[in-house]
Amino acid sequence: MKIEDDIKLDFADVLIRPKRSNLATRSSVSLERHFKFKVAKGQEVHWDGVPVMASNMDTIGTFEMAGAMEKHRALCAIHKYYTADDWQKQASGWFARYHNCGLVYTMGMGSDSSNWSELQKAQEVMRMVPAVQFICLDVANGYTEKFVRYVQTIRDAFPTHILIAGNVVTREMTEALILAGANIVKIGIGPGSVCTTRKVAGVGYPQLSCIMECADAAHGLGGYVLSDGGCTCPGDVAKAFGAGADFVMIGGMFAGTDEAAGEATEDGKVFYGMSSAEAMNKYSGGVATYRAAEGKSVVVPHVGSVDGVMQQILGGVRSACTYVGASRLKDLSKCTTFIRVNRQLNTVWGND
Ligand code: 5GP
Repeated sequence: MKIEDDIKLDFADVLIRPKRSNLATRSSVSLERHFKFKVAKGQEVHWDGVPVMASNMDTIGTFEMAGAMEKHRALCAIHKYYTADDWQKQASGWFARYHNCGLVYTMGMGSDSSNWSELQKAQEVMRMVPAVQFICLDVANGYTEKFVRYVQTIRDAFPTHILIAGNVVTREMTEALILAGANIVKIGIGPGSVCTTRKVAGVGYPQLSCIMECADAAHGLGGYVLSDGGCTCPGDVAKAFGAGADFVMIGGMFAGTDEAAGEATEDGKVFYGMSSAEAMNKYSGGVATYRAAEGKSVVVPHVGSVDGVMQQILGGVRSACTYVGASRLKDLSKCTTFIRVNRQLNTVWGND
């Protein structure tokens, strides 16, 4: 047993320190980023847009959400429970008209040991929908050797797609996934709003430190990081970018929107974790006897269209940029100094 004594920080442990700046208004801040990804055979693929991504949870990563995110030039990780037929029905719709729209295809590792069915479905979808530029290999625990080999297999099978792989939380595994062929490493274990891994397994890593450490490792190898989970408000998204995240993935903040697929109740919309008993009952025939659920189910207030939430998020990030003198989102982390705080918010009237 070993203890690491360094303090690891979460979003709530810090604030961004304001600095003198020449920026007169938030409207002069550009949130667009231009990314170059090294793909197979020495080629480069480019993507321009606003690097906020809707999560690949089944209630969040819907086709409707993708359409709404596209209006903001942001991304949507479509969940893996859509069938190839579901994709086919969309293929001639708005997907066909856009070619830089941040559509992310999600795949898991599959249940058969060869992952053949996952691979076949992905190949079919890529053939039908050329607008899909990103493939996200998503597993709860990206630390297995089997997963690293899987990243290599998918890199070989889809040589020109932008490959996202995770989740991991430490430098060495970020490097391992990039060396295996990932362009973007998805980082975060345990920070999610409906995740209970920290409670059930006692495993996790505070998200702000996770971003700082993994981004440093990824950037050194020409890769990028996608911070996944833990953003509870626009200020957290700004802190994630300030810490060095290239992309930020959001689940819970979008859960109450019209575009989210959670069942509507009198009190709002149902939102559950992808490792919750609810999700496992729906997709895996229940919680297997050897495991415990690592997610929970909540009802969140209905908040209208995702456009309103995106305006809050993008407005918040622009504001952070003006406070530190970053005219482009790309410069935010360079301009950010965090201060550690004992108390982040004044909650005298509640937390909203
Ligand atoms: P949020 O934005 O709600 O804080 O976090 C969303 C992220 O939580 C997702 O993108 C995913 O990585 C993670 N997540 C979703 N469901 C579960 C779950 O049931 N268990 C765990 N451990 N993580 C989950």
